[in-house]
Amino acid sequence: MSRAKGVEANKIDTLAKSHMPALGIDLGGTKIRAAAVRDNQIITESQQIPTPDGRDNIIDGLVELVNKFRTDVLAGVGIATAGIVNGDTGEIIGSTGNLPGWSGTQLKTVMESRTLLPVHVENDANAAGYAEARVTGLRSKRCVVTVTLGTGIGGGIVLHGRLFRGSNWAAGEVGHIKIAMENKRLCTCGLFDCWEAYGSGRGLIQTAKDLLEGVSDEQTPLASRTTELTTHSIFAASADGDLMAQKIVERWHEHVSHGLVNLAHVLNPDCFVITGGLSEFIDFRLLEDMVIDHCLPTVGDSIEIRQSALGGQAGIIGAAQFVIDELLHLNK
Ligand SMILES: [Zn+2]
Repeated sequence: MSRAKGVEANKIDTLAKSHMPALGIDLGGTKIRAAAVRDNQIITESQQIPTPDGRDNIIDGLVELVNKFRTDVLAGVGIATAGIVNGDTGEIIGSTGNLPGWSGTQLKTVMESRTLLPVHVENDANAAGYAEARVTGLRSKRCVVTVTLGTGIGGGIVLHGRLFRGSNWAAGEVGHIKIAMENKRLCTCGLFDCWEAYGSGRGLIQTAKDLLEGVSDEQTPLASRTTELTTHSIFAASADGDLMAQKIVERWHEHVSHGLVNLAHVLNPDCFVITGGLSEFIDFRLLEDMVIDHCLPTVGDSIEIRQSALGGQAGIIGAAQFVIDELLHLNK
């Protein structure tokens, strides 16, 4: 083929790839969800299966989901998973409590040989951050930091439209920045006083237990239920006007703000995006005021904290968008 014809073929190939959807898969501890994605949007009904036990069964489940979308022409498959992931090789290099035995899995290699499609594997919070930073109004920003508040805390840092991965793929593990010094709370990672031990769902429940110590049933019905407290029972009591529950929720906001203040001074972001199951319970005005109050004026001036625009779909969208952008050489 002549050079001119080769260039033309490349252009056509790129054009075709840019219009093909990719399949995004969000692999969680309890369920695996998948949908086809194009232009940072889900374009098909999503499918889901319960997360099977064990590495081999999980991989079989992922292949089963890919096969359900075989009627569509797919540019590839993006998989968002818990754990630290080598973005080049697609190996899970950091373990996760939600998926026992998952560390060491060569997920990209196995899935490419089973599906014969290009596969990209990404940490779930990174994938969510990548998708959130691409929504309208954020694409042109210098720095967008997405924080996932759920059972734990995850993060995705996008600089000038590209995911910041750090030296060993572990950038954005914001749940483990240290926000206290008294060795009071043990984090799931084995260290003390990580942000996650305070600002996550688990942290909120521990805060409730601490504040309810010595409190009588007459002050709050939560006092007699400390062994069965859930995040939802705390937020429900707070919404019902329970003053003690409101104090617990306010303290949780303070804890969430501490991590954001630290990140703000390191990264000076244009915007924080808050996603994850607990994000719907955030009072964004209160949180923004708390953060700005503890920031240097120049840092605080630019602080904007937004609720996720993509909700629970961000992981699926981000994982799929990685595949499309890699094929188009946009994320190198
Ligand atoms: Zn930790």
